[in-house]
Amino acid sequence: MVVKGLSHYSEQIGIIGGGPAGLFVARELLRLGLKVDVFEASKQIGRPPHCTGIVSTRTFERFSIGFDCVEGVYREAVFVDERLRVFARVEGTPLAIKLCRPCLEELLAIQVLELGGRLFLGAKATHVDSQGKLFLERGRVKTYDHIVVADGATRTISRKLFKSQCSWLTGVEVRVVLQKRVRCDAFYTFHGPRFSRGFFAWFAPVKDGREAVIGVGSKNAVVERLNHMLKLFDKLVGIAGVYERRSGIILGGPPAQKPVVGRVYGIGDSLCTSKPFTGGGLYAISILYRPLALAIRLEQPRVYKEAYGALTRELKLQHLYTKIARNTWPLAKKLLELVFKRKCHIDFDKHS
Ligand SMILES: Cc1cc2nc3c(=O)[nH]c(=O)nc-3n(C[C@H](O)[C@H](O)[C@H](O)COP(=O)(O)OP(=O)(O)OC[C@H]3O[C@@H](n4cnc5c(N)ncnc54)[C@H](O)[C@@H]3O)c2cc1C
Repeated sequence: MVVKGLSHYSEQIGIIGGGPAGLFVARELLRLGLKVDVFEASKQIGRPPHCTGIVSTRTFERFSIGFDCVEGVYREAVFVDERLRVFARVEGTPLAIKLCRPCLEELLAIQVLELGGRLFLGAKATHVDSQGKLFLERGRVKTYDHIVVADGATRTISRKLFKSQCSWLTGVEVRVVLQKRVRCDAFYTFHGPRFSRGFFAWFAPVKDGREAVIGVGSKNAVVERLNHMLKLFDKLVGIAGVYERRSGIILGGPPAQKPVVGRVYGIGDSLCTSKPFTGGGLYAISILYRPLALAIRLEQPRVYKEAYGALTRELKLQHLYTKIARNTWPLAKKLLELVFKRKCHIDFDKHS
């Protein structure tokens, strides 16, 4: 939706980062009639990919992106332990949707350009000041009315700015072609020290169960653990080929204390707003991109601070539960087993 009568509004916004956070905000600001420049360090939008792209149906709805980037619809999440025993199942109608990540960013970039935004690729920002100065490599400086920092999990610019002390671990995943077709309406998470330290491994079927994404998040030995998963699935269903290796940083929170510093706003992994149990960062982006754009348009940072405050209260609680569950894992697993003895409905975003 383009808000009529507001186009060519003179405010200019500079956005650092052409990932989902930066691009969703850019699209929204343009729809509100503001002028937007997006600076992306990489030479290609959405590349290299670094995300499985699983979101809840509500997160998907909030994104308003249509179905072009959907590559999987899951009705069930299955929890598996070290002995390959299923200890919990969670279902929904559907429970989650898998987005193709490079496709998501490409789609958003096209929408941003169509709405009149400017996208600068291979343009790395080095720092910003709170009054709206954006510094780029090779000494270039631009001045904006507002700046949005969406620099992702590396947080090179946002870390100091928003004072976030975020826990993290490494995630790697590959796409595989399967010899046997598998059920495609469920994804699986694998728990226990052989699969991961401090997180889990996953298997998410795509392409009608003919291919899958196999990944591991762990505090150490991610490559060894990924190889263990590949051997396991080669035995179980046969792997005909492995392609597209991805890796990145999975954040575990807690979220940054403040999302606004002067004329600079943060969003996405730059604020460390991932869901602590799954590392999913797209949920928070879906909640925050509209309030952020509105706050800038109305010159009312309060609008964004309130939305951020409500979200972080929820995430901090999730952070606490996750910490307790991970520190007492055998006990927490038993509890999950009891609670989920029968298939159970759950809010995929709130973990409740
Ligand atoms: C293996 C793995 C699996 C994941 N799976 C899921 C999942 O299933 N569901 C989910 O919700 N989340 C998942 N996540 C988390 C998800 O990837 C992030 O939360 C999400 O990408 C955050 O989006 P963002 O736009 O904030 O950051 P990013 O996607 O990292 O985008 C940031 C962009 O900013 C650019 N940039 C950085 N610094 C600069 C600079 N100085 N100047 C200019 N540009 C810059 C980067 O090149 C990048 O394009 C996963 C993460 C990993 C690592």
